[in-house]
This record gives sequence, structure tokens and C-alpha cells, in this order.
Amino acid sequence: MVFWTCKIRVILTGNYAFWSDQSEEKKSDEETGEKSMEFRLQAEDCLAEQFRLKAELQTCFVIPLLILEFSTANNYFWQRIKSINYQSKEQSMSARLQRRLVQSMCLILVITGFTPAMGQQGQGQVKSPATAKAAAVKPRLVVGIVIDQFRFDYLERFEDQFGPGGFKRFLNSGSVFANANYLHTPTYTACGHATFMSGTTPSMNGIIGNEWFDRESGKRITSVSDSTVKLLGGREGATGMSPGRLIGSTLGDEIKRASMGRSKVVGVSLKDRAAILPVGKRPDGAYWFDANTGNLVSSTYYFKDLPDWVKSFNREMRPDRFFGKKWEKLLPEAAYNRSTADDMAFEKSSVGNKFPYTINGGEEKPGSRFYNQFELSPFANDYLVDFAKTAIVNEKLGTDDDTDLLTISFSSNDLIGHYYGPYSQEVQDVTLRTDRAIAELLSYLDKKIGLDKVVVVLTADHGVAPVPEQVRELGYGGRLEIKPVTDAIESALDKRFEDDKWILSAVNGNIYFDESVIERRKASMHEVEQIACQVIMKQPGMAECLTRTQLMGNNIPDNMIARSVANGFHSSRNGNIILVPLPYYFFGEGVTTTHGSPYSYDTHVPVLFYGWGIGAGTFYDACSPADIAPTLSALLKVEPPSNSTGRVLSEAFRKKK
Ligand SMILES: [Zn+2]
Repeated sequence: MVFWTCKIRVILTGNYAFWSDQSEEKKSDEETGEKSMEFRLQAEDCLAEQFRLKAELQTCFVIPLLILEFSTANNYFWQRIKSINYQSKEQSMSARLQRRLVQSMCLILVITGFTPAMGQQGQGQVKSPATAKAAAVKPRLVVGIVIDQFRFDYLERFEDQFGPGGFKRFLNSGSVFANANYLHTPTYTACGHATFMSGTTPSMNGIIGNEWFDRESGKRITSVSDSTVKLLGGREGATGMSPGRLIGSTLGDEIKRASMGRSKVVGVSLKDRAAILPVGKRPDGAYWFDANTGNLVSSTYYFKDLPDWVKSFNREMRPDRFFGKKWEKLLPEAAYNRSTADDMAFEKSSVGNKFPYTINGGEEKPGSRFYNQFELSPFANDYLVDFAKTAIVNEKLGTDDDTDLLTISFSSNDLIGHYYGPYSQEVQDVTLRTDRAIAELLSYLDKKIGLDKVVVVLTADHGVAPVPEQVRELGYGGRLEIKPVTDAIESALDKRFEDDKWILSAVNGNIYFDESVIERRKASMHEVEQIACQVIMKQPGMAECLTRTQLMGNNIPDNMIARSVANGFHSSRNGNIILVPLPYYFFGEGVTTTHGSPYSYDTHVPVLFYGWGIGAGTFYDACSPADIAPTLSALLKVEPPSNSTGRVLSEAFRKKK
């Protein structure tokens, strides 16, 4: 028998809410301030099946979402709370609320790894059947959230405007890696999403861009295009997508293998690559949005036909509920004074450049133009959360001891960021709305599974450059065109050798030479590369030119740009030349802004963990999103993905005392 008494001091700052899933008890997050509470708990017979807790509540007003301080003792993971007795001096409270308070305290203790004092009895006491079982427990579900185009600084710039249940859960009670940078160039969507659950860079997982030139077929291909599979749920007979070009396994593949296939793995996003690449080779499904039909679709790579639950979700045509809806600012006008004016001239989008935006695609009734516009509204993130909830129910995610994986990638943030830029009111607003969407998802998971049984990781696939007009004071930066560069290379090679068409394709700053022309003109590849790089470095806005020969021979300059390019280089997929612009320059004449560079505005993204097995803290040691998959593998006690090169971020693990 074990007795213990403890005192928990809870200080609340900022927003807080009553712990409740019932609306009548729900006080909102508008109450702010600082409160402290003391609970004295007394428990007996911790180790027995019929564990009982006696709690004496001295003050009972609110239940915290933020736990900043509590006095505690040592290790005992408290899993088996069978019944709870309590007494309260606060007679005016409803019995139900009192019950809630005590349950909440228990949840707090479990979530934070609170451990009743057990004196000097040591770990020997913990080896009862009940606790041995508890020690073996794994999380029931891993939720991997990617926000498409989300810089780390958004968390800091808008922190005071977040609600209590979204980003703040990570920031206050989770592990925050505040100095995580992608190690590869180009920092594009497909590369970031492939890195996310493969634990490595494009040089190893093979996803070197959203698109690249395929020498074998002589065509540009996308990271997930696959002519051997058909689209399901979209236009009849359309070609589908698959993870066929992803090299090696992902976390999802590993947990399925370790559980003899019992673990379920599901990926969802608006974008095909963002749904497909995180969940790897053999998930139970990957689903993305098809703007032709307004459906969530998949491909015959995964199954012969869409699951019934997806068909029935699509039959409801939920995007149509947003037809004609106005996107207005979430907060009062004054809240946006940390962003630029609403209607900057460089903001370009099909919906205009000034709030409020009416999302109808200029159509009378929902059609593909509306669905395209829907994707660039924050409403599409809410729709995706709806779909994720439906997937959780129908795929029975998190219902047993075989850990499942759900990845969800929010794409609208990227589209909005490209059109309006990182300092716009639109990006601020979609960030605040994404916070609420994530809060909704986490609150659902809490009710359905219990957040103490879920581990959540959140990151982004890349950041974004400031709009060139906003960095003019630096004296450089701007939009570049690739055509003058390739023209200059062609004419230099014509001059040195003979007139010909030397370049097959230019994509992602890669220049692919026609090797048959080089052979026919009896030119040496080395010389062709040298001439091309000399030409490139004379162009405006160029920082570095690397050749395939250099990268293959590991003969690159010792600088960050070259290392980043090497991490993004795959020998059978990249071009002969890779050029990198200076900071704040990018290729893309018509866009407001974009990403893709090795610079911090594109590489510095959140890596946040929360939930099962995760402690609280902020860490500034250099790390990368490639560390996420090996970290989760260590937490779940499964092999890391096959090509994993990241490190285990053990700082995130809840400390065992
Ligand atoms: Zn992206």
C-alpha cells in the first residue's frame, strides 16, 4: 500500500477555459488573468486494480489548460484510475462540475507525467501487473500536421492572438524546437513532405522537387505522377498519382511492418504530393482534393475503389456549403496593425487584394473555378479537418494498442502566402484561423481518443521569402526569369562549339543538357559545365553555380549553399547545372513571392511535439524536420525509416526521474 500527499500549485496566465465537453459548462477563453489554485490530493493503494483517489478541493473555479508550476515528487506513471472520491469545500458548485474538476486534475497529472511521491521505495514498487502494463503502453495514434508554407516566426508574431487549444498547446505544454531548418535545396512542397516522415533529405529519398525533368521519358514529371494508376473519385479515366518515386520507407511503413499490418496509416491534404509522400509506400489510403469535381480523391495505387465512407463524404459536397461565403477578418481591425496595409499593390489573386473576399470563383453555382478559389480560402482547412475527423471514425484510428498514423497537411496557407506574402493581413488571418482549425482537430481527438494517448507533431514543408518590394531597402532582391539565363548559356555554347540546341529543360534552377548534342559536337561535359557556370555567375542575382561533376565527385565549396544543394541532389534525377540565386531573389516573374532557397526565411520552420511521452520545453540547438521521423520511431520503439539520416530529438521526451 502506498500513501501519498501532494500539493499542486497551478498558475494560470493568459486564456483559459473550463474543462468540459458540455456547452452549458463551457466558459470561454475570453477570461484572462492569473489565478492560482491549490489541490491537496491523497491517494491510497496506488498499485491496486481498484485505485482510489481522495481529493480535497480547496478552491475550485477553473481548470487550467496551462500548467506552469506544480510541486511534485518522483516517478510513477499514473495510469489506472478506477474510481475517484472527492470532497469539496465549494458547496455551490454543481456536482457535475466538481467531478469534471477532479477528472481534469487526473488528466493533468497523466499528461504532465506527474508522479506521486513514493518516498525511497524506488522502481521496484512499480512492477505490479497494472503498472508493468502501463509502462508498455504506446500511443494509440500519431498525428502529423504539416502547414504548407509556415515560417517559425509566425508562431512568435501572432502568439498573443492564438486561442488556448491550438498552437498554444504545443508552445506551453509541448516541446518546441525553435531552431529547426531544412538542410536541403530546393525548399519545395514535395521535398518537405517527403522529408517529414522519411527522416532524410531529397538526396536519399529521391524527391528533388515538385517537378523535374525525367531523362528516361524525356518529359517533365511531378513527384507523384504515375501513368500506371488511375484517379479514383475524380474525372472518369484520369491518370492517378502514387508514391512510386519516393525511395525507401517512411514512419508509416515501419509501424505497419512492426504491427504485422495492424497499424492504420492515412494521409490527407488538398495537394496530392502533400497527402501521398508523408504516408509512404503502403498506407491504408492517401486522399487529396480534386478541384475539377470538388471531391476528395485517391488512386488505384491504394485500392480498386474509394472506400464507401469517402464516397459518402463526397456525396455531401461539403465544399459547396462554402459557396459565396465571405472570408472576413477573424479579429477586430486593430489586431492587424502588425501586418502591412490590406490592399498592397503587389498582392495578386483571383479573389482580389482587399478583405472581405467572396469565395464563389465568379460562378453562379459551384464549379471548378469555385473549387480552385475554395482552395485558397481558409475554409478549405476547416473542410480538411472535417474530412480528417471522418477518417478517424471510419478507419477506426486510435482505437487499439497498435499505433496508427494520420498525417494532415493544410495547403491553403501556401496559396495565400504566395499571393499575399508573409507580412500580409491575409497570411496573419489564415494563420489565426489555422490555429483554430488545429484546436478543433485536437479537441476532437481529445474527446474521441484522449490526448494523453496521442502524440502530435507539427511542422511546415518550407517557409517563404519576403515580397521583393518589401526588402528594397536592402538594396537587392527581386524576381528573376530563367529564359535570359538559358539563352545566354545557349549562345555561349554556340560560340564555343557549333550552333545547336544544348539545353533540354530548365526546372527548379536545374539545367539539363542534351547529352547527345554534347557527344555529337565532341564537346566535353566538363567544359560545357564550366562555360555555363561562367555565364550564370555573370547574370544578376546569382549566388552559386554547382555542376553535376562537382556534386558527383563530392568536390563542392565548403559553404552552406553548396551543402544544402548537395542534400537536395539525387544523381539520377537532377540536372547538369544547379544555380542558386542570392538571398531575396527568386525565379518567378509573375508571383508575389515564393520559396525554394537555402536561406533561413525558406528553411526555418516549426518542429513541435505534444502529447504522449512528450515533455515541455523550448530548445535552440540546431535541428531539422528530417529529425521528426527518427524521433517518433524512438518514441514508438520501431525501426526508423530505411534512409533516415536525422537524429533523435530526445530533448522532447518526458524525463524519467
Ligand atoms: Zn509547400
